[in-house]
Amino acid sequence: MGKQFAVIGLGRFGSNVCKELYQLGHEVLAIDANENIVDRLKHHSSHAVVANATDEAILKSLGLRNFDYAIIAIGEHIQPSILCTLILKEMGIKQVWVKAQNTQHHKVLEKIGADRIIQPEKEMGMRIAHQLDSEKIIDYIELSKEYSIVEVVATAKISNRTLVEVDVRKRFGCTVLAVKRDEQVNISPLPNDFIYEGDILVVMGHKNDIKRFENKGM
Ligand code: ATP
Repeated sequence: MGKQFAVIGLGRFGSNVCKELYQLGHEVLAIDANENIVDRLKHHSSHAVVANATDEAILKSLGLRNFDYAIIAIGEHIQPSILCTLILKEMGIKQVWVKAQNTQHHKVLEKIGADRIIQPEKEMGMRIAHQLDSEKIIDYIELSKEYSIVEVVATAKISNRTLVEVDVRKRFGCTVLAVKRDEQVNISPLPNDFIYEGDILVVMGHKNDIKRFENKGM
């Protein structure tokens, strides 16, 4: 048998957690104060119940203490989210995961014993930024607060062109220290050396200049 989950607050985040857990074969109790929202989750949960998540007696009557996990996704309203977390932790639910709206909310949840705090927009935003960043940048060495060395993958835009044509130094103030191609590393690239798509350029410069080169130069 799968685990038992209670998902409380069925906005965009909570409803998706609920549907996915249910699809994965778990027993999921879906709770929301809004009847229409609960209706929509009827076929995507084991039980869907209209209830106020800050009402301790109701939560007890729903047998929540027997659940392995509770996910609280009442994001916009901080107070009920905090109250509900307190009640569920007091009830002894081992894993109470809570969606936080902002840093203050996050801090309070930490203090009252939430087992995991999720800030979806923040976390996803950071992940996406790293993925976007690493599309070209494959390594990064910080020389100082202002200067760094990065390894960037040459794009089609600068392919079949010489270093002097790309003119990284004059246009962006950065220096190409080396060019890696397959297993070979050219550590003293000359102005007339060609760059091909997929080459790895080792570029040194001011962080802002490297960013400009990455965004505009290639
Ligand atoms: P999302 O971004 O995931 O859509 P949100 O952060 O905007 O969500 P809200 O819309 O504030 O979050 O709340 C999510 C759900 O929580 C709503 O469906 C709302 O009806 C429900 N909710 C709010 N307060 C309570 C409460 N006291 N008891 C039960 N459910 C509640």
